[in-house]
Amino acid sequence: MNKLMTRILNLPGVIVEEIQSTENILILFVKSTNKRTVCPRCGQTSHRLHQNKRHLVKDLPLGNREVLLYVNRRRFKCQNCLKPFSETLNFVGNKKNFTHRYAKDITQQVIHSDIKNVAHQNKLTVEEVESMVKEVGKLIINIDLSNLQKLGIDEISLVKGQGKFIVVLVDLSNHKLIGLVSERKQAEIEKVMKSWSEKVLEQIEEVSMDMTGNDKSLVKKICPNAIVVTPSG
Ligand SMILES: [Zn+2]
Repeated sequence: MNKLMTRILNLPGVIVEEIQSTENILILFVKSTNKRTVCPRCGQTSHRLHQNKRHLVKDLPLGNREVLLYVNRRRFKCQNCLKPFSETLNFVGNKKNFTHRYAKDITQQVIHSDIKNVAHQNKLTVEEVESMVKEVGKLIINIDLSNLQKLGIDEISLVKGQGKFIVVLVDLSNHKLIGLVSERKQAEIEKVMKSWSEKVLEQIEEVSMDMTGNDKSLVKKICPNAIVVTPSG
């Protein structure tokens, strides 16, 4: 194990075993520190390794190098079901080729820019960026909203000219993503906001959005104390 690189990578529960690098790419061979994992079928803990299975996962860049993690997503055999299963890793989704934190970083960039630009700047395809934004949407749970006062509601065009949008909800004091709606529908936005506590909804002072009058009246209804403003760009 490479202790220094493990510290630099700073992914909890992950050990760097080996490093390979080219001029532009750093490949880190990593594994989880967990000795055992839980069978998704029956919930029984298993420590019987069935096979090692490696695949490449894109992570945040280091310096001017792209970072790829060569992740060992081990297969275990459940002693109860007698069937093999892949371990669940806390830093990358199943069958995903990017880490959660990389997808979060890309999504933050999209909030400040647009999908096409972000794809270009990060040498990704529009589809890859789209899939990262959607994945991050699934990860937004149990976010601390106790200080939320200024809410931004913003539309992101997924594919130009095709009318595919997602709606992001952002805490404007720190520009953190706090909600994501995969469809541009009032009912969907309402569902996300109604999942917040009454206290949070009442403390929202300002909602910044660039949408139709109908959307505005919806927001006024949900956040009784908020003024609705148009973003300054
Ligand atoms: Zn099982």
